[in-house]
Amino acid sequence: MILDLRSDTVTQPTPAMREAMAGAPVGDDVFGDDPTINALQQRVAAITGKQAALIASSGTQTNLLALLSHCQRGEEYLVGQEYHTYRYEAGGAAVLGGIVPQPFEVEADGTLDLASVEKRIKPDDPHFPISRLLALENTHTGKVISQQYVNQARTLVDQYGLNLHLDGARLFNAAVASGCSLAELAAPFDSVSLCFSKGLGTPVGSVLVGDRDFIARAHRWRKMLGGGMRQAGVIAAAMDYALDHHINRLADDHANAKLLASELAKLDGITVEPAQTNMVYLNYDSHLTAQKVCQYLKQHDIIVGDSQRLRLVTHLGVPQTAIAHFVACFAAALRS
Ligand SMILES: *Cc1c(COP(=O)(O)O)cnc(C)c1O
Repeated sequence: MILDLRSDTVTQPTPAMREAMAGAPVGDDVFGDDPTINALQQRVAAITGKQAALIASSGTQTNLLALLSHCQRGEEYLVGQEYHTYRYEAGGAAVLGGIVPQPFEVEADGTLDLASVEKRIKPDDPHFPISRLLALENTHTGKVISQQYVNQARTLVDQYGLNLHLDGARLFNAAVASGCSLAELAAPFDSVSLCFSKGLGTPVGSVLVGDRDFIARAHRWRKMLGGGMRQAGVIAAAMDYALDHHINRLADDHANAKLLASELAKLDGITVEPAQTNMVYLNYDSHLTAQKVCQYLKQHDIIVGDSQRLRLVTHLGVPQTAIAHFVACFAAALRS
């Protein structure tokens, strides 16, 4: 068995998930005729406490739909330098929407400093882009953003008439780790993007939630971007299956990440950051290059990134028994 710790996106659909996909009733979703899509969208709207929901192929697409639906050309969104919506989406909002990013350094806890944000909200002046949106991320690098902080961010955006978007690619992890419901976590936001192809283990699929008018605008953008799908109920069936069977088990991934962090911390020359959800970040000293460590592990059927600051991600393809095996191999790699 290959142990792949690079990301929770490497998860394979389980046999039971494939069975649910194979049996799903489908229709042409561009005509609004796919019953499995319609039911899944209603279900996700309900569990997040929003009026409406829209399926898309990826989290990059749901985030892009959100930015395009909140902001017009020449308007700006305030965002973290290291947030996915700024750094990892190929500049889509600027390229396709003429939307101006105003980035900030991300604080150690994954938040943005709200005093700095407030300073950069532009007054109505023809010199400036029009500030329209604040975009946050939860979890960020596996860290759960506190609800108290999110409420402060809401108060700030209300003061200036901005909207608030959440990239909640791993909001399911935040919900399980914090014990808060998805609806509680989503409540302060005008829109939330959720990924099902991370820890929830579907092969594809993200959902954007918000109010009815907002989702109608996103629906038009999705069509324009070529994101209208036909018998996509097979995807929605996997997502529905994941909602039933793969949320509570995220607690196992979190426990495995904590175990992994505490076992690695016992090794010499390694600095491990505490794990809050399913990600462990560590730095290690070695006479070997990161590439060599990576190659050594590969020979033992373990796949990790080739960086000296290593991210290890636990997921449904990582059983608890794999943790001790990984730590032993990693220690051996550093000694080799
Ligand atoms: C994975 C991820 C996304 C979406 O990525 P896709 O690969 O496009 O689904 C968005 N935000 C964060 C924080 C992510 O980790």
